Amino acid sequence: MKDKFWQELSLSEMTRAQWESLCDGCGRCCLHKIEDEDTNEIYFTDVACRYLDEETCQCPHYGVRQSKVPDCLTIYPNWGKKFLWLPTTCAYRLLSENKPLFDWHPLISGDVNSVHLAGISVRGRTYRDCKFAS
Ligand code: SF4
Ligand code: SF4
Repeated sequence: MKDKFWQELSLSEMTRAQWESLCDGCGRCCLHKIEDEDTNEIYFTDVACRYLDEETCQCPHYGVRQSKVPDCLTIYPNWGKKFLWLPTTCAYRLLSENKPLFDWHPLISGDVNSVHLAGISVRGRTYRDCKFAS
């Protein structure tokens, strides 16, 4: 791998393009979650945001997503404890915890499909959230 910027830069030092490339496209953050009020533990459900493309695991409205889903989050380098809202496989969370990326991450494998082939993405595993369906 010619440019392992994620090993050399902190999250806050990355360019916008480097930051965006950390997303492996798993779609896990687009699943509805439940937080235990007492322990603050986060549980992921199998119910996806109604906008998530179940095949590509991408958001078709990424650039304007908050106009569609107001509480859809934007991840920031200084998120602190909020990184715990992300799955343990997520590159943003891993790097915030000073952990390495997995071999199936597209930045390492060089293949955008490796996240699906490794069984990490939510492809074929979700139920549709019809709460806001028109
Ligand atoms: S969980 Fe992380 S890596 Fe996966 S889609 Fe969301 S932001 Fe990207
Ligand atoms: S609006 Fe897009 S990015 Fe936000 S949760 Fe839904 S599918 Fe995911």
